[in-house]
Amino acid sequence: MQAVILAGGKGTRLAARLNGRPKALVDVDGVPLLERQLLSLAAQGVDEAIILVNHAADQIAAYCTSRNAFGLARLRLVDDGEPRGTAGATLACLPDLRDRVLVVYGDTLFNIDLARFVAAHERSGADATLFLHPNDHPHDSDLVEIDDAGWITAFHPKPHPPGVPRANLVNAAFYVIERRALEAWRDATTPCDFGQDLFPAMLAAGSRLFGYNSFEYIKDLGTPARLDKVTDHLRRGVVARASLAVPQPCVFLDRDGTLNALRDYVRGPGDLVMLPGAAAAVRRLNEAGRRVAVVTNQPVLARGECTPQDMRAIHAKLDGELAGAGAFVDRLYLCPHHPDAGFAGEVPDLKIACDCRKPKPGMLLSAARDLNADLARSWMIGDSTADIAAAKAAGVWAILLRTGEGGRDGRCDATPDAIADDLAGAVELILSASRS
Ligand SMILES: [Zn+2]
Repeated sequence: MQAVILAGGKGTRLAARLNGRPKALVDVDGVPLLERQLLSLAAQGVDEAIILVNHAADQIAAYCTSRNAFGLARLRLVDDGEPRGTAGATLACLPDLRDRVLVVYGDTLFNIDLARFVAAHERSGADATLFLHPNDHPHDSDLVEIDDAGWITAFHPKPHPPGVPRANLVNAAFYVIERRALEAWRDATTPCDFGQDLFPAMLAAGSRLFGYNSFEYIKDLGTPARLDKVTDHLRRGVVARASLAVPQPCVFLDRDGTLNALRDYVRGPGDLVMLPGAAAAVRRLNEAGRRVAVVTNQPVLARGECTPQDMRAIHAKLDGELAGAGAFVDRLYLCPHHPDAGFAGEVPDLKIACDCRKPKPGMLLSAARDLNADLARSWMIGDSTADIAAAKAAGVWAILLRTGEGGRDGRCDATPDAIADDLAGAVELILSASRS
């Protein structure tokens, strides 16, 4: 595997921390960032790196030589001569690229399973795969929209118009790209940026771009505050623990009656009203390093009372409400099925007895697999007996809430491990249980 590292940035915002060094060599807890990047790539099978440099290239060259190219078989510096933008600089060295290339931004610290990322790209057959994740500040991030199969359908670069709910899925600036997909753009006007210019143009021209949504660690450290945050994460083990190889403590959340008020049914974004304190409770889970997955039965889809587009709009609203409190969910799973026929406008394909509709544990088991859940340290929080029964079937701890149904639905005979007044109370229970 070949990697291109975009290290041409001057690092103006980071100047006070650079002591005259180029941004790529910024000290991150005692080790230059470029070294951290190259060692991680080399350890995961990258054998060649092309570093695109501009500012203070001689210092980067001298450092790489002093470190024996970090064990890579080939390491080259290419001076892009002029500021061409991230995509422009990559296109300028097209003749040097192999058939498939990993593109890494020189100001990011990451802990990403490359083999898994590239395998997902290969399986999809995409022209390019973008690493995506929700974050706690989507309002000033470049957002991406994907369909249910993971294909990218739209780019929404910042700034975002107020009042338009968008799913919290951020372009983290880490890509695997097929060289053939770039050929047609070799003469693109520069400066040309991947996220702002090239990918939107490729999408419009019919390229197939895949979104890889993962909670693994990647953050840019382009400002002193971000550098401090990443350094703190390294020291506290947050970066290491975010590896998919490490079993994750997860919290599975029901939606209606747990996060948002229980109504007849939520059929559009206007029907979704958050319960008091719910978003702040999710933020506490995010900050405590718990993976959060929503698992929700949505039979309105099978009954034809809500289209998949409506459902995406509802969840964009949910993401926006959570983001307003600095919170996010790592993944959302929904069961669109319903077993009983006889509704006007129903969708016959979804009228099945499935394995995912709670109280069956299918959604929790899928989430547990995708997130590498540590079941003994994972919890389900919900307001109905079906939530509790699903939790027990999946082998996780269960907390019943007094909000929503408050366990009065009588659907299942299942005993929760604890009962809490609301989501905030349940989160307090979980976090204090882990402290004791
Ligand atoms: Zn289902």
